[in-house]
Amino acid sequence: MSKIKKVLIVGGTHGNEVIGVHLIEKFERYQNLIYRPSFETLTLVGNPKAVAAGRRYIDKDLNRCFNFQELGNETPANSEYEYQRAREIKYLFGQKGQKPIDVTVDLHSSTANMGTTLILDNHDPFNLQLAAYLSSVQPMLKIYSSAASGRNQDSLRSLGKYGFGIEVGPIPQGVLYAELFQKTEALIYAILDYLEQYNQNNIPPMNRQLTLYQYVGTVDYPRNENGEIQSMIHPQIQFKDYEALKSGDPMFLTFDGEVIAYEGASTVYPVFINEAAYYEKSIAMCLTEKQQLTI
Ligand SMILES: [Zn+2]
Repeated sequence: MSKIKKVLIVGGTHGNEVIGVHLIEKFERYQNLIYRPSFETLTLVGNPKAVAAGRRYIDKDLNRCFNFQELGNETPANSEYEYQRAREIKYLFGQKGQKPIDVTVDLHSSTANMGTTLILDNHDPFNLQLAAYLSSVQPMLKIYSSAASGRNQDSLRSLGKYGFGIEVGPIPQGVLYAELFQKTEALIYAILDYLEQYNQNNIPPMNRQLTLYQYVGTVDYPRNENGEIQSMIHPQIQFKDYEALKSGDPMFLTFDGEVIAYEGASTVYPVFINEAAYYEKSIAMCLTEKQQLTI
């Protein structure tokens, strides 16, 4: 077992998700909060220009800029601000950078009812064990696996050997909610405490059963031939993230009041329902399957 030496906590990867930005400010002011004896904890504001502008990004979503083949050296095709920032971050914290990171924790918030969600990109035993531990100490925590989405290739959290995203919601963009701030903060401390124990070869007791919501695909809004949205999220599923959606259940509502039902054969558990930032990505929700794993 190789020890964890460097942990990076990132906020403001999206400039209008401000809980993470203020948590990073707090940790930089009170570094004892994130100090653990057996590893170094570093902090970073992911996209400072977007934070200053109060926007998700300036030119391009920073959290889609870490595909290292695309990133390469600067060319006219990747000269946008976020690609430049991704190169800086990779130079600082990438596996061949100045301070190679073992674990990245990237803080986000969502307009969808994500509660408190830990995002994993693969089912490495290290990731599953951390998820099982966190589920044991925070029973309301949801574990979302994007292993089948390809997100492990382009996200900021792909920088380190291990990477986790935290999503909390529902919260509007640019807004702080104290309750979600504190829940995010508590989850970070739980992660740091676990890593400390892991380094001490003293992994704490945990549930061996893990419920995982595994990404299976996305659904776009119904659109016309010009790409304009023709329907809204059906009120019955608004804020119903992580709840079962069965064939025939209402999914969208047209402006004329017509119901569009989910027609898939298998029961799914939608998440990121009506996420404001995903309208431009043609995503009305992500569909997941609920899985029970034994760790
Ligand atoms: Zn985000």
